[in-house]
Amino acid sequence: MITIEKPEVKFALDAVKRASLLVKHIQKEMVTPALTKGDRSPVTVADFASQALVSALLQKAFPNDPLVAEETSKALQLQEEKNTLAQVTKFVRESLGEVTSEQVCNWIDNGAASPASRFWTLDPIDGTKGFLRGDQYAIAFALIVEGKVQIGVLGCPNLTDGYQPDFGGKGSLVVAVRGEGTWVTPLIGKGQLKPLLVSKKKVPSQARILRSFESGHTNVNQIELFAQALGIKTEPVRMDSQAKYAVLAAGHGELILRLLSPTRPDYREKIWDQAAGALVVEGAGGKVTDLNGQPLDFTTGRTLKNNRGICASNSYLHDAAIDVLRKLNA
Ligand code: AMP
Ligand code: MG
Repeated sequence: MITIEKPEVKFALDAVKRASLLVKHIQKEMVTPALTKGDRSPVTVADFASQALVSALLQKAFPNDPLVAEETSKALQLQEEKNTLAQVTKFVRESLGEVTSEQVCNWIDNGAASPASRFWTLDPIDGTKGFLRGDQYAIAFALIVEGKVQIGVLGCPNLTDGYQPDFGGKGSLVVAVRGEGTWVTPLIGKGQLKPLLVSKKKVPSQARILRSFESGHTNVNQIELFAQALGIKTEPVRMDSQAKYAVLAAGHGELILRLLSPTRPDYREKIWDQAAGALVVEGAGGKVTDLNGQPLDFTTGRTLKNNRGICASNSYLHDAAIDVLRKLNA
């Protein structure tokens, strides 16, 4: 059983839960059918509010731990963003009580730390396009010590039991602790922690592939060639964010491919896009490497400089997948 009483685990679960509920509330208030295509304001407000909240909670719980997070308050402090900052502050107050805009900006900017021997990494909203579409998104938070992810937590407001798309439902809080497995509990209401285990499928042609919803974040043609090479007939499941890693951990998919987009061949993964999800998959019995089969190296700063793309699997199908990726020069 997971040592939920460990202060770091308790803190991470509480912080992600509070941030997930705040973001869900912002989505309810701000994401309306009348949004124009280019209007990113809800995601902006939610991103900043989520980062400010988690950063404030971290400062209180572990004041010496650095935070490596996606956002900075620079844009938020521009005169023309005055209303956005006021909105962010209003939402952070819902969770923390009386706080000032200055405090909010300081908390956000505490996320600009460099990775150290022990640090936390946060994606305040992973899958921002999914958030705007009313689809899947996640709040991803991880503790990394000496380059190893020790705790990974994913708040998935639109996923129940770690795998079922359920919009407006209970959502899922997924937690992995190194050496202690991966567990899921409802985001809303009381519920026990249940273990998650990967699928036991060993026949490559039966694999269900999970990929980014956004075609620009991967290589769709290569995924098609990959599926043909393994004899996979089922269409890949398109899903935003590290919710995919929860689904794989829950045994409802066998492979996640993050291939390099032909328009961004030099793209390197951000650590907050992978740390929590990687431990979630590994804790459930899966395997995560880059496209060459190399382990993820979390010691190279804010990006995974030594790794190209991601291949995550139920572990049984990993070698077969890497073999094909090599042949495709993916
Ligand atoms: P997904 O929801 O799987 O599409 O992953 C979302 C994450 O992809 C975002 O948090 C971005 O940091 C990241 N991303 C942005 N551009 C790219 C790109 N060209 N290739 C791969 N990932 C990207
Ligand atoms: Mg992200």
